[in-house]
Amino acid sequence: MSLLSLTGIRKRYGARTVLDIDDFQLEQGCFFALLGPSGSGKTTLLRIIAGLVRPDAGELRLDGKDVLDRPPHERGVGVVFQGLALWPHLTVRGNLALGLDRDLPDPAERTERMRATAAALHIESFLDSRPGALSGGERQRVALARALVRRPALLLLDEPFSDLDAPLRISVGRLVKDLHQRFGMTTLLITHDRQDAYLLADRIGLLRGGRIVGTGAPDVLHADPGSAFAASFLTDAALISGTVAEDGLLETVVGRLPLEGGPGVGERALVALRPEEITLGSGDIRGTVAACEFAGGAWRCRVHVGETELVALHASYIEPGTETLLQPSSTLRRPLREDV
Ligand code: ADP
Ligand code: MG
Repeated sequence: MSLLSLTGIRKRYGARTVLDIDDFQLEQGCFFALLGPSGSGKTTLLRIIAGLVRPDAGELRLDGKDVLDRPPHERGVGVVFQGLALWPHLTVRGNLALGLDRDLPDPAERTERMRATAAALHIESFLDSRPGALSGGERQRVALARALVRRPALLLLDEPFSDLDAPLRISVGRLVKDLHQRFGMTTLLITHDRQDAYLLADRIGLLRGGRIVGTGAPDVLHADPGSAFAASFLTDAALISGTVAEDGLLETVVGRLPLEGGPGVGERALVALRPEEITLGSGDIRGTVAACEFAGGAWRCRVHVGETELVALHASYIEPGTETLLQPSSTLRRPLREDV
């Protein structure tokens, strides 16, 4: 059974509909990432689930129970807010203890819960410090501890890594993944960053303009994004359009590409060509390197073929202006929808 179930959830601000979710289910124990650009309604959705914003319509069930009329602290949901929202005048211990007496009236149980949570998040040594005295990574762990100390059935994370530098992102990301495995709580990560979603989630949902426009396992969505929007948001693919020839191949500026399903002879189709699907230095197509940037381990080259720009990965630097041969892989590609 789903732990979280949203049906027909709508939210408007003034004349604008910012959220319109027909059906969204989260399975017990999963790690789900909701990925969408800024302004797509991610935080609004999180606040509705947490009980901080009331939707105009729809049904919200947690563990089978309708919770729309329940206050936040009765929903069994832990939240790490964008920007963390720790209380600056309280110590770390004080931040964690807020409201805990409601769940655990026995002081001995509270002490033990606090100790176990602090140990899991490696924050024991600064329990008596105020948040302002801590580093970004430490504050992040405190915010996670505050969400987890009540052992919520559902953990909500709103852009939790956006203020961390790259190495810290990875270490806090691993910690979140370990905690998910250890405590087994269902986790919903909300982010605009596809790397965070790829790194952590079992499943990804794409949010665009308040609607969920695609869901799937990260590797499946990456290989077959389904729509032009998803392809541009999930990958660095170039979108290539062409016309289906008599033999069923798609005629494009980068050659004839095999298609899986889709339109008939003479019709137009759009496909995604990812950087790792393009070989530079050999092949049937001529292009000109426009730029070549070091991407750690490989070079990312922007190559122009006529008016079309492709991105390709290459083992070595190529001087901009160099003419090169290239070849897209002959993988079967499903045409992309252009509407969403
Ligand atoms: P995201 O988290 O994906 O960036 P938000 O959920 O914060 O998006 O916002 C979605 C849209 O709703 C934005 O256009 C935002 O300006 C608008 N919005 C959010 N909260 C309010 C509010 N309290 N009043 C008016 N508009 C709001
Ligand atoms: Mg947001």
